[in-house]
Amino acid sequence: MLEKIPFYNLNLNELKSVLNGLGKESFRAQQLFRWIYGLGVTDFNHMSNLAKDFRAELPAKFDLSLPEIITHQKSADGTQKLLFRLFDQKSVEAVLIPSEGRLTLCLSSEVGCNMACKFCFTAKQKLQRKLEAHEIVGQYLASARLLPSGEKITNIVFMGMGEPLDNPEQVFKAIEIFNSDWGLNLSKKKITVSTSGLVPLIPLVTKSGTRLAVSLNAVDDEMRSQIMPINKKWPLQQLLDACRQHAKDSGDKVTLEYVLLEGITDSIDSARKLYQITKNVPCKINIIPFNEHPNSGFKRPSEAQIVAFHNELMRLGAHVLRRKTMGRDISAACGQLTTAAMRA
Ligand code: SF4
Repeated sequence: MLEKIPFYNLNLNELKSVLNGLGKESFRAQQLFRWIYGLGVTDFNHMSNLAKDFRAELPAKFDLSLPEIITHQKSADGTQKLLFRLFDQKSVEAVLIPSEGRLTLCLSSEVGCNMACKFCFTAKQKLQRKLEAHEIVGQYLASARLLPSGEKITNIVFMGMGEPLDNPEQVFKAIEIFNSDWGLNLSKKKITVSTSGLVPLIPLVTKSGTRLAVSLNAVDDEMRSQIMPINKKWPLQQLLDACRQHAKDSGDKVTLEYVLLEGITDSIDSARKLYQITKNVPCKINIIPFNEHPNSGFKRPSEAQIVAFHNELMRLGAHVLRRKTMGRDISAACGQLTTAAMRA
């Protein structure tokens, strides 16, 4: 028996070509996308503008299954964490984060991650494989189905498990499906790709029209290379130059993420250096007090130190926000994602 094609892997041209291969007209592709992405109808029998014999052919051709939700945890603050089982039994997590008027979905792009950032829980699980576009789109569709009617995912961030630019082909294909008018029709400006610093691939983010976030986390190469090994390959200056170029070409500010680790990245001197190295980059700085996880070897700074760091950046005139920690009680906060097996 021929293997079915994962429907959520297809862009418009690919679906047209599959349908042409079945002897069908190209415009049928738009019709199918309209039913599935526009109207949320996944039963081919209900697609009333398609001929009955055509509808009967489709189930054998296309696979519309989504990653299976194995666990669904809800935090007291409204954050929801979903653990998905993929077709090969591997698993990934996604997080739904509500905040003033928005509902952001944080997606995974890989099972595990090879970037080895020292403060990150996902890094303890080395890269097992990269996700395919349908598994990324599938996290979105399965999450959206859980929402009460009228509620919608408004923003997408690639900040879950994995380094999105380590899997660019599938990530940008998923973005094409999220963004296209034949797909899920989400604005590019509501989608953020976050990288640990794969400098040569940052222009792909610019080209895609999505927003760029960079996990910066240190103010000099010595410290950054210690906590983020990627820095040995693409040091800070190259990374900041790439950020500046992205801002120039896209007209968007870059979000610079900065994790506060007690005694390591949280000094007032670090706040001043952070201001110095970023003042010529159109950016906003997100400071993220470290979310402790087992055996990380790092600590969250005291509240007084977090406030002092934040205040110093504001005093200097930086555009700085303190990321509100969401979902800490269900280990859904930034840097805490991994699959259940790791936590056991
Ligand atoms: S912080 Fe991101 S890039 Fe670094 S190890 Fe964790 S998942 Fe990978």
